[in-house]
Amino acid sequence: DAAINRIAAGEVVERPASAVKELVENAIDAGSTRIEIAYSDGGKTLIRITDDGCGISEDQLPLALSRHATSKIDGSDLLDIHTFGFRGEALPSLGAVGRLTITSRVGRAPAACISVEGSVMGPVKPAALSGGTIVELRDLFYATPARLKFMRTDRAEAQAITDVVKRLAMAEPFIGFTLRDVTGGGEGRATFRAEAETGDLFDALHGRLAKIIGKEFAENALRIDAERDGLRLIGYAALPTYSRGSSVAQYLFVNGRPVKDKLLVGALRGAYFDYLSRDRHPAAALFIDCDPHLVDVNVHPAKSEVRFRDPGVARGLIVSSLRHALAEAGH
Ligand code: ADP
Ligand code: MG
Repeated sequence: DAAINRIAAGEVVERPASAVKELVENAIDAGSTRIEIAYSDGGKTLIRITDDGCGISEDQLPLALSRHATSKIDGSDLLDIHTFGFRGEALPSLGAVGRLTITSRVGRAPAACISVEGSVMGPVKPAALSGGTIVELRDLFYATPARLKFMRTDRAEAQAITDVVKRLAMAEPFIGFTLRDVTGGGEGRATFRAEAETGDLFDALHGRLAKIIGKEFAENALRIDAERDGLRLIGYAALPTYSRGSSVAQYLFVNGRPVKDKLLVGALRGAYFDYLSRDRHPAAALFIDCDPHLVDVNVHPAKSEVRFRDPGVARGLIVSSLRHALAEAGH
């Protein structure tokens, strides 16, 4: 079982940033309003996620660390998922490749913790915690030296963690996020902080995008709000006059999941075709919500890839609503 866990872990956890992604998604799924992410040495020696979500009860703690134990799906339809997690793989995988400790508390019940190392689970013990969950992952890949070799510099891994956290924070503007580098111990320093946004969804999103992509982007962004063929598209896209220089800020999310797909690149190019020279990249953060059956999220265990069954529909919606917004803005 330890070997199976280690093999699966290699697919789910490629580097510290992928561990952070899984753990923050769990915290989001738990209904948290504040999430703190701390790391040491680029996440290689420590990743700690603290949330104020629903918690895991004492009797569920060992279960949460068991393969394919998920509280989020009944197994009848892998595609009917609205939360991030659906495989029950992240925690057992992390417990196979690092030293994992979970401390949690549900309501007024006493807090408890459990540790797992090399897939060997320790006993559930009493702990002190006012609420929510703390997941601590130490010494990632200590048992798999081959993986360790592939890790990049602390700086590069820290950058990858920051990118992951910012992407997730973009899609969850009502949740407050703090990212801390605690290398060397202590409080460390906050390298990114986004307070929970308030107001309606567009207000919140606008505020969060100003924080993450930049004030200038937010000031020069068109509000996108469209619906067609069962797809809802919202977000912000920059005016053609706004340029971010060489760095590309193009973000697409489907059902709350960050998508790495060429779809948005092509759609933005199509929508801005008349305005931009080839070497300019319009900034945009767009969110599509749709029936889960219209997308494939199961293509990779790390779930970073979401594919549309019919990419043409999504592309068409993005192009037409951007063109419409541009025309309305007098372009
Ligand atoms: P999945 O997210 O796919 O269900 P995981 O291995 O990531 O699988 O997590 C296993 C289970 O542990 C979850 O289904 C959830 O019930 C519980 N869990 C994990 N992290 C948290 C958290 N931060 N707060 C509350 N429950 C959690
Ligand atoms: Mg999960």
